[in-house]
Amino acid sequence: MKQPEPLHAMAMAAHPDDVELSCGGTLIKLVKKGYRVGVLDLTRGEMGTRGTPEQRDAEAAEASRLMGLTVRENAGRPDGFLQNDQETIMEVIHVLRKWRPVLWIVPCSEERHPDHAAAGRAGLEAAFLAGLRKIETGQKPFRPTWTIQYFCRLDTAYSFVVDVSDVFEDKLTAIRAYRSQFDPGSGEPETYLTRPQFMDMVIARNKFFGSKVEAAYGEPFLSREALRVDDPVAFLTGHPSAWATLR
Ligand SMILES: [Zn+2]
Repeated sequence: MKQPEPLHAMAMAAHPDDVELSCGGTLIKLVKKGYRVGVLDLTRGEMGTRGTPEQRDAEAAEASRLMGLTVRENAGRPDGFLQNDQETIMEVIHVLRKWRPVLWIVPCSEERHPDHAAAGRAGLEAAFLAGLRKIETGQKPFRPTWTIQYFCRLDTAYSFVVDVSDVFEDKLTAIRAYRSQFDPGSGEPETYLTRPQFMDMVIARNKFFGSKVEAAYGEPFLSREALRVDDPVAFLTGHPSAWATLR
């Protein structure tokens, strides 16, 4: 089997729409910088109150197109009962070894929703185990250079915030592609997600994290490893052009 070209970044999630809501702005920003970016969803979201798995597949494909993803895979694990078990980890290892992302982005393993927490743990463990030669999948061992965690509900212990102000409208457009989940007019039961307050909360959350770094909108991430910095001035002032204001 021909090995596809490696990705610069890949995000994984329990459910279709998790990455759009939590780190979609960052993924769009990376795509706009010319990086190859992929997503792995572990389930098809079949336990959701609204929409069918087929509808959600089509919505995920549309959101991927809008974000400019190189690839989106679905592991077809059971929604609502997602476990950090051997079968799930092996699925993730297979995808990691196939797409070989430099940056691996997983949900925070402390999240409240059991599926999100299980996905987070599976993502962290798979990143390590994928590098072990004796775990055989018929592929070469591989370990991402860096693993970071994104947040769905939590807002504690993040290490850095990505400024997503310039792509925030694109992020909202990608979220709205999940019409079965967020469009109140589809005739299905009202849920927490279809109330107008839900989008307000998404916006408020991104504004809150943006305010932490003097940006209009931001997305937080946790790195368990120390951040390696080659140029502290460029890193801490956000952009090399900040030099101009420091003169
Ligand atoms: Zn979710």
